[in-house]
Amino acid sequence: MDAVSQDSFTVCEHCNSINGPMNKYCSQCSFPIRGSEGEKASFLLTVSSRRRFLDDARQKIKSARTVIFVLAALFFVFGLFVGFAMDDFPSMIVSLVLCLIYLLLAAWCNQNPFGAILTAFIIYVTLIMVNMLVDPETLFQGIIIKIGIIAWLVKGIRSAHEAKGYLRELQNLRAVPVDAE
Ligand SMILES: [Zn+2]
Repeated sequence: MDAVSQDSFTVCEHCNSINGPMNKYCSQCSFPIRGSEGEKASFLLTVSSRRRFLDDARQKIKSARTVIFVLAALFFVFGLFVGFAMDDFPSMIVSLVLCLIYLLLAAWCNQNPFGAILTAFIIYVTLIMVNMLVDPETLFQGIIIKIGIIAWLVKGIRSAHEAKGYLRELQNLRAVPVDAE
């Protein structure tokens, strides 16, 4: 009796779904329920490596979000400086609006990191171009910092894109990390 019921159904060790007697792989998560120990181990290795990649990608997204906050702070300080030290109120308004936009982008980063970081990147590069057209010398002011900011944002865009892929893969494997929805 026991042997029959064991043959009929197998509970997946990985996702706990019940599988029919003919399944070699779990119908829900494709865990090799009747595979060798090696096959099982390599499945679990895939899951854990995807989780690690996802964690790494999220770390880089966080760094890009920090860069967006730093830009918001820089626009704020710059706005106050040109407004009060140089009496350039139009520039002050533009800088404070940019500060607000970057704060909103940093908040949006939690829902849609790819869209938020990409938008921050496009606005930032556009600003550099506009400034360069107005005064070519501005391109070289703080060039190292500019390159650093662009590099962090590009890394963030790429990681946000990769994170989507890893998350989708883990969802297919029924192994979504606890903190993700
Ligand atoms: Zn399963």
